[in-house]
Amino acid sequence: MSAQLQLEKYSIGVGDRFAHQAKAQLEACIQAEKAGVVVIPVWNKSNREHITIGSEPVSTRAAADAAVREQGWKKSYYCDADHINLETVDRFLSSCDFYTIDVADLIGRPAEGASVEAFVRRHPELQGSIKIEGIERSLAISKEELARIAGKYLAAAHHAGAIYARIAKEKGEGTFITEVSMDETDSPQTPVELLVILAALADEKIPLQTVAPKFTGRFNKGVDYVGDVAQFSQEFSLDIAAIAHAVKQYGLPGNLKLSVHSGSDKFSIYHSIYEATQKSNAGVHLKTAGTNWLEELIGLAEAGGDGLRLAKEIYTDAYAHREELSRPYSAVIDIDAKKLPEPKEVDQWTSEQYTSALRHDQRSPAYNPSFRQLLHIGYKVAAHMGDRYLKLLEANEAVIAKNVTENLYARHIAPVFLGKRP
Ligand SMILES: [Zn+2]
Repeated sequence: MSAQLQLEKYSIGVGDRFAHQAKAQLEACIQAEKAGVVVIPVWNKSNREHITIGSEPVSTRAAADAAVREQGWKKSYYCDADHINLETVDRFLSSCDFYTIDVADLIGRPAEGASVEAFVRRHPELQGSIKIEGIERSLAISKEELARIAGKYLAAAHHAGAIYARIAKEKGEGTFITEVSMDETDSPQTPVELLVILAALADEKIPLQTVAPKFTGRFNKGVDYVGDVAQFSQEFSLDIAAIAHAVKQYGLPGNLKLSVHSGSDKFSIYHSIYEATQKSNAGVHLKTAGTNWLEELIGLAEAGGDGLRLAKEIYTDAYAHREELSRPYSAVIDIDAKKLPEPKEVDQWTSEQYTSALRHDQRSPAYNPSFRQLLHIGYKVAAHMGDRYLKLLEANEAVIAKNVTENLYARHIAPVFLGKRP
């Protein structure tokens, strides 16, 4: 399977809720290039975000195109229809050239008829002892274990095939990049499961260029990784080896790589990702985006005056609606209600107090992860403000852009792709 449109080795998912920071994000990729590494920007926005904001995918495309034109970016860039399925893909068909096919909901659904048996019969190479380059001990999979894994994932793989076929029919094969995601589910996939999943996706003839498994540990929105970093590192390296093996064994595209979702602010695993990809000469896609909205709030608060007042008002409103705002994100946030400051108190804060509570600097004693997470999911409040919010973004563009660029470059790109510790 070959793909004409090929995703480069290093790429970063960027984007922002209100489509105002494309230039500032691209600036981070320009800084990366100056520092010696090409990191391709991929603007992503999920259907859920579009619905909350009331925006259309074409607005993401327009913002990306304009930023590329204005900044004179000569390398590739893409627009990602993030976490789409058969029901939601249509509105993304005209403006996106990257599709993240989300089949997490189908994990564990029974596969049709005799397909598990047929899969096990078709894949004798996945039974017994499997020698994988780069892994000292062979992987051992019994026939029963293979049938169990196939039973868990075949329906999802089959559905991914149907979604891929739908996009290919509309857009033409080779004109877009395909990612399959299984991260929004309860239990992580092991490297052995990943290998079986890749075999199943290859059976579906999906020219897969990135795959987003669920990794071990918690990837909460906008805060650091919570889990066993050593175990993450080990599994991440095994996943890379499983992918290299599957590329050879099943003829998947040679640039197939891991995609790390909810990749914003996972500072404690960035060095492991850097080391693992360097060691095995592997690529990686780091999907960030959601926290750019927090950089907007930091910029507004830093600007003082109307900006700071609006940032406080957003907190007050988010605090009042904290329960309903949290509900859709309950699996990916951990807000300690006791740590949330009273809005009355926040009202008295200076710019410095607001920004240091919000900015993700773990060394700062003022940093408050609960405050940060509540504001992270509070973008709905700003969406309701409409023009009032957007006008202030525009009035304070310079101070906001500085925060967006620095956050993306110094805290994300430099550690993951250049191995620099912040
Ligand atoms: Zn995801």
